[in-house]
Amino acid sequence: MSDEPVAPRRLERMEDLVSLCARRGFVFQSSEIYGGINGFWDYGPLGAELKNNLKALWWQRVVRERPDVEGIDSAIIAHPRTWEASGHVEHFSDPMVDCRACKKRFRADQLEDSGKCSAREGSSEHDFTEPRNFNLMLRTHIGASEDDAAVAFLRAETCQPIFNDFKRVREAARQKIPFGIAQIGKAFRNEINPRNFTFRSREFEQAELEFFCHPSERERWFEHWLGERLRFYQELGFDEDHLRTRPHEDDELAHYARAAIDVEFLFPFGWQEIEGVHDRGDWDLSRHSEYSGKDLAVTDPETKEHYMPMVIETSAGVDRTCLALLVNAYEEETLEGGDSRVVMRLHPALAPIKAAVLPLSKKLAEPAHALEMELRRSMNVFYDDAGNIGRRYRRQDEAGTPFCVTIDFQSADDGKATVRDRDSMSQDRVPLEGIQAFLRDRVERRA
Ligand code: ATP
Repeated sequence: MSDEPVAPRRLERMEDLVSLCARRGFVFQSSEIYGGINGFWDYGPLGAELKNNLKALWWQRVVRERPDVEGIDSAIIAHPRTWEASGHVEHFSDPMVDCRACKKRFRADQLEDSGKCSAREGSSEHDFTEPRNFNLMLRTHIGASEDDAAVAFLRAETCQPIFNDFKRVREAARQKIPFGIAQIGKAFRNEINPRNFTFRSREFEQAELEFFCHPSERERWFEHWLGERLRFYQELGFDEDHLRTRPHEDDELAHYARAAIDVEFLFPFGWQEIEGVHDRGDWDLSRHSEYSGKDLAVTDPETKEHYMPMVIETSAGVDRTCLALLVNAYEEETLEGGDSRVVMRLHPALAPIKAAVLPLSKKLAEPAHALEMELRRSMNVFYDDAGNIGRRYRRQDEAGTPFCVTIDFQSADDGKATVRDRDSMSQDRVPLEGIQAFLRDRVERRA
């Protein structure tokens, strides 16, 4: 097949991606059969693989390759004092207004998205209340009683348990300052207006690193981690002109923060944050020391200086990065002969399916299944014998599968299969016994 690409088109309308994601099982509304639940999303077979691959790569780069970083997996519910110490109980809120007529609730700073009021006759304007602060933490009750003493919060960010665990992890792992603690996990925010697909959800995942250093070294480590994080996004294959950094203005900075830079991606709905890199100073450890009564300061083994370490944080949203990856990967391509295809150009290391095994005829099921099972031992593989080969290639292009391996009638004679490359659509004859290594080499290749 020689179907050369002409003038590919990037994603322009989110609806096209949303529908592809539902149809192909990347991401779709949670509880769809009940009409969905606003702000909650389920990842299907392709989405779960993509997300796991992204998390694995983050863990590899941030934790495993770093002798100075330890990984943890903390509980979602922490002691409620944690959130008093962190300031979330008092301050973690957005100003919100209610419409007295239609009873809908909006963020006071996003009223341009409030639409028309459905309940007021003769007027389509909402009848807003004064703004009130609305705490974004989701609450639950622990144990049998439902009184205030039993209230607990689902964590609003994954970093606070890291501060709770700082002393234990430092001692258990025999780490010395400077070092970091990282974790990936769920966070919950009762967002007033969940929107833009998974971009603003009520349940989402964060991948966070808290790096503890001496006060004299905070600038150096801030620069270091910002550089590392930008390298990570380049490695994921983001187009350079769709990625930028944006330093926070002074009035945007959290009161305890010295510096903060957002990593932003250009979505069809504009430039938006996917990660924040923050200098949080000693705010968190000092507050947790105060509220817990445990001294979290450290003593320098050489100088004997007793000090509170400073914290440099890198806080990435796993779901937002997945969304950015999907937007970045999406291309509509017109092929020679007028045919067209949607192709998800995901980096092979992130692609949900690494290779599809496609027998040209159902009569070739035996050798094709044998190859499928061999490949499954080291990568996620899909088997498809339905429909003509062109249609099968298109299905894999949409899923972002970097390689299709076609077994044909010649394969039994020459011991080879055809490997078709998703991006160039070029085809190679590769010996069957070498296919595993051929694919692994390309899938694991460092970008
Ligand atoms: P925003 O201003 O967009 O609400 P934020 O500045 O509050 O984000 P942080 O508290 O710095 O976000 O959280 C770090 C990362 O967690 C963000 O960069 C983002 O990727 C992710 N994140 C935060 N809130 C949400 C959400 N509601 N849905 C999905 N991801 C989120």
